Amino acid sequence: MPTSTISSTDPSVDHLIQAAPTESCSTDLAAGPWTFDAVAGYGPGSSMGDVIPTGAPRQGELPAEYREASEEDLDRRIRAAKTTLGDRVVVLGHFYQREEVVAHADYVGDSFQLANAALEHPDAEAIVFCGVHFMAETADLLSTPDQAVILPNLAAGCSMADMADIDQVEDCWEQLADVLGPLDATDDSGRVPVIPVTYMNSSAAIKGFVGRHGGIVCTSSNAETVLEWAFERGQRVLFFPDQHLGRNTAKAMGVPLHRMPMWNPRRPLGGSSAAQLADSKVILWHGFCSVHRRFTVAQIDQARAEHPGVRVIVHPECPMEVVDAADEAGSTDYIRRAIDGAAEPTTFAIGTEINLVRRLAAQYPQHEIFCLDPVVCPCSTMYRIHPGYLAWVLEELVAGRVVNRISVTADVADPARAALERMLAAKPRA
Ligand code: SF4
Repeated sequence: MPTSTISSTDPSVDHLIQAAPTESCSTDLAAGPWTFDAVAGYGPGSSMGDVIPTGAPRQGELPAEYREASEEDLDRRIRAAKTTLGDRVVVLGHFYQREEVVAHADYVGDSFQLANAALEHPDAEAIVFCGVHFMAETADLLSTPDQAVILPNLAAGCSMADMADIDQVEDCWEQLADVLGPLDATDDSGRVPVIPVTYMNSSAAIKGFVGRHGGIVCTSSNAETVLEWAFERGQRVLFFPDQHLGRNTAKAMGVPLHRMPMWNPRRPLGGSSAAQLADSKVILWHGFCSVHRRFTVAQIDQARAEHPGVRVIVHPECPMEVVDAADEAGSTDYIRRAIDGAAEPTTFAIGTEINLVRRLAAQYPQHEIFCLDPVVCPCSTMYRIHPGYLAWVLEELVAGRVVNRISVTADVADPARAALERMLAAKPRA
């Protein structure tokens, strides 16, 4: 891929936010999440430096019998509860989830694949989502009203999703109306001034906002198709919460960086001038994934020096310079399919979450597969789903009690579903 340089005056880049991460993972990773649930931040792991917004759900204390149980005991209890519940429960495990939890999942996949997998079980009473909060919300949007979606640890949020707060987004929308004029007025080609687009990794409240304003949801697999859809209907796009996915996708579609200003909600007009916003094609929310921003061009250079012929594949949530320096960029599913499709033994350097990379390395022993980041640093929010929490929610179900249910209210769910349905109907250009 061609490389590109970033000018220090480029409105698309916030150098403060993009500063290379220096923190490494805490040794607290060896502990159970209940020991750090009470501490500010998301706990040990890549997002440990991010601040949890006030109002984010907190998990009550896990009963001692689960905190003190051995790994073997928890494994046995989870299996026993699942056998008792049978088809009444479906357990979903995200690609980035820790191995001792994924071992009990009926399905493993990315957030949207898992929400769709749950659709195949309309008769299951409960869907236990071993992922993070926004994923459980999406499953609730797509499940039947009688099904309970359960998140084993309520503190398993997503630091990226939490960076787009609904009040800040509403405020941004008002400021854009001041600059761009009425946001429902169409130009000669029938396009409104701005179409909001949100990544799947966002709260239901943001998906609902997008749905109410004629916008759409995207995944890392279909972001280009979704942006094409949005450009047909709007003069520009407001993209949240992940600046990197937005920038990498729009850049690949030919949008120049100077037409992608970043919106920092802590600054007037997001930190741009009215002229920059008027000239924009994609306005990028300031969010990022703490796991994927750890990857650097220096890591890729080192991998190439130490492994001549290495194939470097990174996730599009990585910074633009990293995506440019890699051989390929794609979603977790793209990475899995690329490895699966390699006919000859190949060395792969992968830029995504460590649990997925390790699982791929175990599944494809004919290839050498390693993570670009030498510091083993998982998604700390996902890490909060310890087997102790999984055993607890399952045994509560056996006892006839539903705990940690995630419900999206109808006023949010209806427009959020509309935004998801637009995504499903959007087709790539022929
Ligand atoms: S890997 Fe990043 S985007 Fe995914 S759940 Fe963790 S913090 Fe959120």
